[in-house]
Formats: sequence, structure tokens, C-alpha cells
Amino acid sequence: MAQVQRMSRLMVKTLRDDPADAETLNHKLLVRAGYVRRTAAGIWTWLPLGKKVYENVARVVREEMDAIGGQEVLLPALLPKEPYEASGRYEEYGDLLFRLKDRKGSDYLLGPTHEEIFTQVVKDQCASYKDLPVILYQIQTKYRDEARPRAGVLRGREFQMKDSYSFDTTDEGLAESYALHRAAYQRIFERLGLDYRIVSAISGAMGGSASEEFLAPAAAGEDTFVDCPACDYAANTEAVTFALKPVEGAEHPAAQELDTPDTPTIETLAEHLGVPASATLKNLLVKVDGEIVAVGVPGDREVDLGKLAEHLAPAEVELVTAEDFADRPDLVRGYVGPQGLKVRYLADPRVAPGTAWITGANKPDTHAKDVVCGRDFEVDQYLDVVVVEEGDPCPACGAGLKIGRAIEIGHIFQLGRKYADTFQLDVLGQNGKPVRVTMGSYGIGVSRAVAALVEQSADDKGLCWPKEVAPADVHVVAAGKAVQTELALDVAEKLNAAGVRVLVDDRAGVSPGVKFTDAELIGIPQILVAGRRSAEGVLELKDRRTGEREELTVAEAIARLS
Ligand code: ATP
Ligand code: MG
Ligand code: MG
Ligand code: MG
Repeated sequence: MAQVQRMSRLMVKTLRDDPADAETLNHKLLVRAGYVRRTAAGIWTWLPLGKKVYENVARVVREEMDAIGGQEVLLPALLPKEPYEASGRYEEYGDLLFRLKDRKGSDYLLGPTHEEIFTQVVKDQCASYKDLPVILYQIQTKYRDEARPRAGVLRGREFQMKDSYSFDTTDEGLAESYALHRAAYQRIFERLGLDYRIVSAISGAMGGSASEEFLAPAAAGEDTFVDCPACDYAANTEAVTFALKPVEGAEHPAAQELDTPDTPTIETLAEHLGVPASATLKNLLVKVDGEIVAVGVPGDREVDLGKLAEHLAPAEVELVTAEDFADRPDLVRGYVGPQGLKVRYLADPRVAPGTAWITGANKPDTHAKDVVCGRDFEVDQYLDVVVVEEGDPCPACGAGLKIGRAIEIGHIFQLGRKYADTFQLDVLGQNGKPVRVTMGSYGIGVSRAVAALVEQSADDKGLCWPKEVAPADVHVVAAGKAVQTELALDVAEKLNAAGVRVLVDDRAGVSPGVKFTDAELIGIPQILVAGRRSAEGVLELKDRRTGEREELTVAEAIARLS
């Protein structure tokens, strides 16, 4: 049986004041309530109370991953560079990657995410279609040298992620593995008590569902999203914001020049391209409100011109020349918003100054065929571009959109065969011929989820945990006198025996006022006080969130709380 946790023996030091450098609630409160301690910028120690919350989140994640057939593994965090060189990510990650050498001078890295290594594991372990599908996951420490590791455990340089990877032989299989994850994520975030939205991580205007993000609305969030108050429409305004960098020597066949008409509309454009307005554009680059942006459409992500046109009305499409980004030849930015976009140009970053180009109608000889992000362009970094305005009509129902901030708590992705191609991951198919495997990857920020919970649930008194993640169910407070301590310990033992998780504040020489303040700060959902009427065996139960109080006998308290 679990033990009653005693405050007198628990390593917890609460603070009255916020840490000087803390800007976000989770940073302030998790430090003040003694859950975490900063070791270095973006590097955190989980103290006993914090570790319990962290483990509760991890347990929920594990249970739901197991429920969809996920098999838990544990890969190393210290990794050889070769697999990441093979995928190109050793370079692509740039400064985000922690790189190191061993004593012999060989290169290593600390894993920021593990697609490469999981692909190798499956290549080694699975030989036949009969071995698939398989879903593997781990809950593990990740390393990213984030530029701005602020906001407490929200954005760490060392952080905990649940990452899973699905391996299928068919596209339908991948879609199914993706759907299983999506549903599991919904259950996880519901059980954790997080308010969240699912948004397409490539724009809604592109109609794709190949990647979606789970966003937890919170002021401290670093993502901007649009949310409809009247229906369930939500979208990430950063969805397709890419920085594209031309790759030297890349082929760029059949790009087509267009004389710049004054203010062409999307119809003008379609007409020029000789495609119906419902055609699909690839590698469409866009300027928004004078800012150079691009609807970077790497690889198989496509902009449906017809759909885009809907969103453009009454858009002005203005062709812009390469001179417009002459000062940043290596960088253009992309975005397709759900509504109200003012899309102003189409061009390609590699064309000579003074020429405007169309680079991508889905019609033979009118676009740069087979332009592939990663081969022809490198995705350099993501940048913020917000172009949707508060009150713009919702594309689904017309109500005025709200713009808010949110925390990315999860991300699911149909990768397809990118990594399987890199590592030649094939299994023997039913017909005896090799089949290339198709993959999905799926992440939840486990440590970040703790931060998101704080950002959403804390109040002016302190932390206020949902039951499922709280470090205990009941915080029993002994006001101080011997009879009160005796009653508190008695009820604590009985609750514990009934399977209730109890923390009892049995500290001697600490005033009742300090104990009550600490109990509110620590945020366990129920506070049970052995106070004034202890001699009669009567306790006071206080709901941490609502502040409602009632008096109960020991027997009543046990019946109520177990
Ligand atoms: P962000 O946009 O916040 O930088 P990301 O898109 O780079 O996150 P992914 O690569 O999608 O992150 O990783 C999967 C999940 O891991 C994210 O959805 C998030 O919950 C979590 N995560 C990513 N970076 C961090 C970090 N620095 N600290 C804590 N959690 C993180
Ligand atoms: Mg990131
Ligand atoms: Mg992100
Ligand atoms: Mg992400």
C-alpha cells in the first residue's frame, strides 16, 4: 500500500515571491510551490511534487498509447551523427542541434527527435509484411538548443517527449495508424483536463490532413491561432510559414514567365496559366500586406487554386519581382490563411531580378515540375506571420473569428516514405516482392503538458490541478495543536487505506495561516482541515477550485473522498 506523504518529511520549499526572471504562470508557480528548480537556461530539475505530476501525465499517455497497440521502447538520447547525416537533418537542424564528440573524436548528437533511429530499428527487426503494422513509442528526454528557452518547462532545451512512430505497408494502413493516434491524443488531453483544439498544421485552405497540431489555448502560448466562437473551426496561423532556401544547382525546369499585369486577380492568374480556377498550384509564393511571404508548398503539399480563390475574394493578386526580396535571396516566407488573406504575389526566389515567374501550376510545362522541398529548397526555419484579423468571418460558419495564443502540446504527422527511402526500409510483401514502408510520427510534449496545465488551470492563489494529474487527491492540514495533528494523521491513514492519495501537513512550528497558503499554492484538489472542531472529530473540507467548504466527520470524509 502507498504511504501517506508527510509534509514534515517532504523536500518542498515554498516561496512567497515569484522568481525574478519568471514571465509565465508555470514558471512562477511551479518554482514557488516547490515542483521544479531551474538548473540552467531551459534545463529543469523535477522535485518530488513535480515528479509526481510529471509521472501522472506520463501514465495517462502510456495507458492510451498501450490502448492503441503501441509498444513502449527506449532509445538512446546520445546518438551517432551518421543517420542524421543520411536524412539531411544533421545540417538542417542548424543551431538547434546539440552536437558533441567522443574521446576518439567521433561526432555525436543529443536526439531532438528520433525518426532516423526508429526507421533503423524497424529495418533491423521487421522483415515481412506480417511484422507490420507496428506502433512503437517512447517517453524520453529530448534535446534542442532552443533560441529562446523561456517560459519555464513550456520550452526547455532538455525536455520530455512521448514520441511514437507507425510503420505500415499501405497508405490506408498509415491513415489508420494516424487516426488511432488522433483518437488516442483526444483521450489523453481530455483525461489530463486540458482545453485543446485540433488544427491542421498545413493550412486548412490546402485541405490536407497529413499533419495536425493539438493546441492548448493559453496567453503564454507561442502559437497564434484563430478560433471560431460559434462552431468548432480552428486553425493555426503559422501553419505553412516556411523559410525556403534555394539549393545550389537544383533543377528548375519549365518555369514560366508572366508579363506583369496591373493587378491580376486569381482568375487572371488561372487564365494565364491555362488552368481552371480549381487547379492546383505548387510552390506558390505569396506576398501579404507588403510583406514578402510565400505559400511554400513543399513536396506533395499542394495549394488548390480554386480553394485559394475562395479565400482570396476580394483579393488582389499582384505580381512581384525578385527585386522585392533581393535583400533576402535566401529567405521567403509562406502562409495560407483560412480567410481574408490579401495575397499579392507569385514569384520564385531564384529568378533573376526584374522577372516575375509562375512556378507551379499543375499543368504540363507551365510549372516547375517535381519541385521538392528538401531537394530544391531547404526548410530553413519557421517564422511567425499573422495575417488573419480578429473578427474576420469564419470560413465554416461566418461568425467573427477570435485570435488567440496557444501552446502546441501535440503534433501528429503522416511522414510517408521519406525516411523509409533514406534508409531503404522495405519488407517482403504478400507477393514475395519488397514493399517500401510508410511511416507516421507523433509527438506529445509531456513536460510541456505540465506547463500547459498550469497555464490553463492556476488561479490567483496558486496551482490548481485536475484530479488525474494532481500529486495527491487530498491535502490534509493539521492546524497545529496536538489534538488537530492527531485527527489529521488519523484521517490521513484511513483515507490512505481506502486508496486515496494523501499529503498531510503535519509540520510542527508552522502557523496555520502559512499551511493554508501553502495548501492553496500547492494546488491539490481537496483540502481537508483538522482545525477548530478537532476535539469533536469534525473536519472542514474545502474544494481548492471553487472554495466551497463543508464540515464532515471522519467517516463522512472517508465516504466522500474515496
Ligand atoms: P514548437 O513549435 O513549440 O517549437 P515543435 O513543432 O518544434 O514545437 P515537434 O517537433 O512537433 O515540436 O515536437 C512534438 C512535441 O514536443 C510538440 O508538439 C511539443 O508539445 C513538444 N516540444 C517541442 N519542443 C519542445 C520544447 N523545447 N520544450 C518542451 N516541449 C517541446
Ligand atoms: Mg520547435
Ligand atoms: Mg511547432
Ligand atoms: Mg510541431
